[in-house]
Amino acid sequence: GRKNVPDCNASDIFDKILRSDDLKDLICSYNDLCQQLKLLPGPLQTFYPTIKNNVKIWKGKSLWNCLDKHQSHKVYENGNACKNLRVLIVGAGPCGLRAAIEAQLLGANVTVIEKRTYFSRNNVVKLWPFVIQDLKTLGAKVFHGKLGTGDIEHISIKKLQFILLKISLFLGVQFFHGTCYKDFVYPCGKKSGWHVKVNPIDHPVNKYEFDVIVSADGNKQSVKGFKGSELRGKLAIAITANFINKQLDADVKAEEICGVSYIYKQELFKAMKETTGIDLENIVYYKGDTHYFVMTAKKQSLLDKGVIIKDTLNSKDLLLSSNVSKLALIDYVEKAASYVTKEQLPNLELERNHDGKEDVAIFDFTNMWQADNSCRIIERKGKKLLLGLVGDSLLEPFWPTGSGCAKGFFSCFDMCWMMKQFNSGKTSLLEIIVERESLFRILPQMTTDNIKNFTNYSLEPLSRYVNTNKGGFLVSDALALLDTDAPDEMKIILDNSKHEKTSKKTSNLEQFSKQDKIKNISQLQSHNTTNSLTLVRQKLRKRESIMPEELLISWFKNEVSSYQGVSVNISSLKDGTVLCALLHKYRPHLIDFYSLDKNNVVENNNRAFNIFEKEFGIKPLLTGNEMLEHKRPNSFKFLFYLTQVQKKLSAE
Ligand code: FAD
Repeated sequence: GRKNVPDCNASDIFDKILRSDDLKDLICSYNDLCQQLKLLPGPLQTFYPTIKNNVKIWKGKSLWNCLDKHQSHKVYENGNACKNLRVLIVGAGPCGLRAAIEAQLLGANVTVIEKRTYFSRNNVVKLWPFVIQDLKTLGAKVFHGKLGTGDIEHISIKKLQFILLKISLFLGVQFFHGTCYKDFVYPCGKKSGWHVKVNPIDHPVNKYEFDVIVSADGNKQSVKGFKGSELRGKLAIAITANFINKQLDADVKAEEICGVSYIYKQELFKAMKETTGIDLENIVYYKGDTHYFVMTAKKQSLLDKGVIIKDTLNSKDLLLSSNVSKLALIDYVEKAASYVTKEQLPNLELERNHDGKEDVAIFDFTNMWQADNSCRIIERKGKKLLLGLVGDSLLEPFWPTGSGCAKGFFSCFDMCWMMKQFNSGKTSLLEIIVERESLFRILPQMTTDNIKNFTNYSLEPLSRYVNTNKGGFLVSDALALLDTDAPDEMKIILDNSKHEKTSKKTSNLEQFSKQDKIKNISQLQSHNTTNSLTLVRQKLRKRESIMPEELLISWFKNEVSSYQGVSVNISSLKDGTVLCALLHKYRPHLIDFYSLDKNNVVENNNRAFNIFEKEFGIKPLLTGNEMLEHKRPNSFKFLFYLTQVQKKLSAE
């Protein structure tokens, strides 16, 4: 904090904060505001009313109107829903900050830490209509009047971060930049709670206690105890570039390209390749503070143009900085940008990053990360810690669909809803885990089409998802996500859990002595399998859940009719080719259909099963090996599986 509070009133400092686009300046002004009003960041009710009552200029009033309206929703219980809950949010990207706002509105005591000391990402994100609506309800237009007007449906990441950070700060969130999360620390005595380890080591946050840690750091597996996997698509190389918007006539006139891809504009891409040698699969151009371009480039053209110096056997080595020529890359994007804008931008000059380097990047997005689980609860010495993932660290988006912030914000709402349930103590821990995990399993299936009526969206899952049980996560699956040293409590939770009723399950549970309960997770997991199989069998018994074979074949035939050489009968369905063709039709970025070895039954099936599970939530009932060995391809299991595929894709 600074000693001398400037000689101006709260409204002036507020105005300065609104206009600030430098993180350090912003925090300085905010500290001034807090000093002026003798306030310390803290829970909503102790902070927000004072700011509101002291800032009376119209911009302030517009913001307070929006926030008051948003906060009046019953879900927040007037800022009491999460009273006394101490929440740490790791990462101040769009998702971390969005989660911080909701947790603060619930009344929690929220701290956000961000390892960087600047917000500098010029890259622009396209926002789905529901995200724009959501931002408007938070008063985002007070900061960025153009948002959501006309066809402005995009924003630079840094601008979005600033808007969300400023709102968080006005609500009382405590924010630290230059603070890097390392790990969480178990309670060490009966009186002590959960801590975290952050860098720098003498940081005050190291002394704080937390009940909830939300990982919004955009990284893979950054929090202990979470695993995940990478969904491998076909090789995909993206390039982003930001050119200076000099606001000259040419800059104003140049027309945006909201996204064109090869499939729809073959002539454009072919002509560009012939004229310039640049071969792309898609390109987007947005105009804002910068001229932002993002494109997917074909490897061969990058090699031909000397951008990639040499081809490598291992695709991971392909884009190492030692194998990329920066000069050739700059030349490549300049040519691509000039060509697609029909030379409307004659003096292209790359913007500089915070470190003074040209704002151009090339990266591989062949693999997309997805965590296996979205949450865990640990209990030690009577102290519970809820850990959860949101945003990219939960589910890495496929960027051309622009789904990052949309799915990311949904995951924030799901996480904050879980916090509310966790704090209320009314619902068993296993049940709240089941709910969050079920929602996580529906999340990847969100599209712009199935989230249309969003004006009444709230933290309540049923306001956003049609059927919250669809994810089908079982109480028995949740056991592995609850790690407690209170075996009695564990038993009570299990006994009370409404899903655990059959005598078989009870006897399974009785096998666990108090100490064994935690160690015997693997036994519990095999118990899960028993449950899942029972469920599948029950489903299989319902004949109406299986479509007749002839109908299935005719549906598949129709779906893949444009794929030459793919014939559909029950044996070809079994060898995996048809499933792969179908996937290629619906998710072309995830499978390189034309380079599949059609004879590799095991791998083709495994690949298809894997992608159908991750993308559409269809559990595989067989393995690739079983498909190869299976004597009776028309078994109930397989037909049941194909029926699920048919139902899911028909609903797409
Ligand atoms: P991030 O934005 O990655 O933020 C994470 C934050 O955590 C960072 O600030 C980081 O510094 C901080 N951090 C990391 N580790 C730590 C630590 N240990 N301690 C403290 N802080 C830490 N999305 C869209 O919605 N629309 C689009 O059009 C779109 N286009 C895209 C184009 C490209 C080329 C790419 C790559 C992505 C695109 N996305 C798009 C995705 C979008 O950028 C992300 O989904 C969004 O930024 C996710 O935000 P996040 O908050 O989860 O993570």
